[in-house]
Amino acid sequence: MDIYEYVSNIISDVRINGIDALKRYSEAFDNYSGGFTVTDDEIEDADKSIKPGEKDAIKNIYERIYEYHKNQFEGQKINIKNGSIYGIIYRPIDRIGLYVPGKRALPSTLMMLGIPARIAGVKSIVLCTAPENGNVNKYTLYIARLLGIREIYKIGGVQAIAAMAYGISMKPVDKIFGPGNKYVNEAKRQVFGITGIDGLYGPSEICLIADDSANINYIKNDLLSQLEHGEASSAYLITNSLRIYNEVKLENVKKYYKETVEESIELANEIAPEHLELLVNDPLKYLNIIRNAGAVYMGEYGPVPAGDYFLGVNHVLPTGSSARFSSVLTVYDFMKRISVAMPSKYDFLSAVDSGLKLASIENMKMHYKSMEARI
Ligand code: NAD
Repeated sequence: MDIYEYVSNIISDVRINGIDALKRYSEAFDNYSGGFTVTDDEIEDADKSIKPGEKDAIKNIYERIYEYHKNQFEGQKINIKNGSIYGIIYRPIDRIGLYVPGKRALPSTLMMLGIPARIAGVKSIVLCTAPENGNVNKYTLYIARLLGIREIYKIGGVQAIAAMAYGISMKPVDKIFGPGNKYVNEAKRQVFGITGIDGLYGPSEICLIADDSANINYIKNDLLSQLEHGEASSAYLITNSLRIYNEVKLENVKKYYKETVEESIELANEIAPEHLELLVNDPLKYLNIIRNAGAVYMGEYGPVPAGDYFLGVNHVLPTGSSARFSSVLTVYDFMKRISVAMPSKYDFLSAVDSGLKLASIENMKMHYKSMEARI
């Protein structure tokens, strides 16, 4: 059975059989048979068990992420010209679901999802994550508390995506956010239309471009850092230095030799990686030829893990070449755009003939009448 059919069967089962199916899949995949809702006591216990130094680190990073995202939204766009009003207004999505990977818990991901959601003004936020030994990761719960998220479910994988989309054991959500493994991403693809999705954010990838000036140790560590996410992750090294090409010998890293940095970037554009790291002289001068990448990190102090954790930029990024058409998560993903128009009489009358012609071409009689009646 291919993954499409496999995931589709789980989604249909959850949609049709509801909580019974949720329980079956939680037992099968997450070895969990308890209640799905996280209680206030569990949140309180998590809070108490976290060391003050850890809380300080989380709060520091929270502030950095907040700072980076707070000015992303540039405001409503309303233009007034010759008495007409045209524009775009923005409204937060009413109710969203955040998926935070649970198998290998990534509490940092909750900050990356929840902070822009709050800045956008989303009111109702649900969190789903798979339990480990029956519990949600304590740091995830602590961050949920910082974000003011109270509706938290111990549900992971495909069944979590189906539950949020179809409203099983909870009210359905309007859009689902968050990264996950191949099953989670396939599930998101399949529920799109019933609910919105942010993008396809799967197993981590790094493409590192190095010239002869790059530090070999940095290259090796940075490549391996993304492979640490699991077997499905990928790492590419592209270099115009034969020395580096020959010296970097790492399992599971795909290596390419190119004559120039420009050619290396062209190959990276074809790969369209989640993370593109440039360890080259004067990296800024290449920025204008980068077309396809989720995020670009440059210079000796921009290793991908710093971006993953504390720089403040978002680490929820398109994978599997989807950087060809989609982007890093921003505050805008948590909003809808609504177009608005209030034409003046002058504006209407000066252009309505063209509208009438087009209505005739398309043979839309009532469209024609609606406009004609105002002349
Ligand atoms: P996950 O929460 O995505 O998946 C675990 C869940 O998958 C389990 O709870 C289980 O319900 C389900 N599952 C496991 N095996 C299954 C099977 N055989 N059939 C059906 N369901 C099954 O956590 P994970 O597996 O650790 O994956 C997280 C992924 O997210 C990693 O690959 C990581 O690289 C990626 N990630 C990506 C980004 C990004 O922005 N692109 C950010 C962070 C993490």
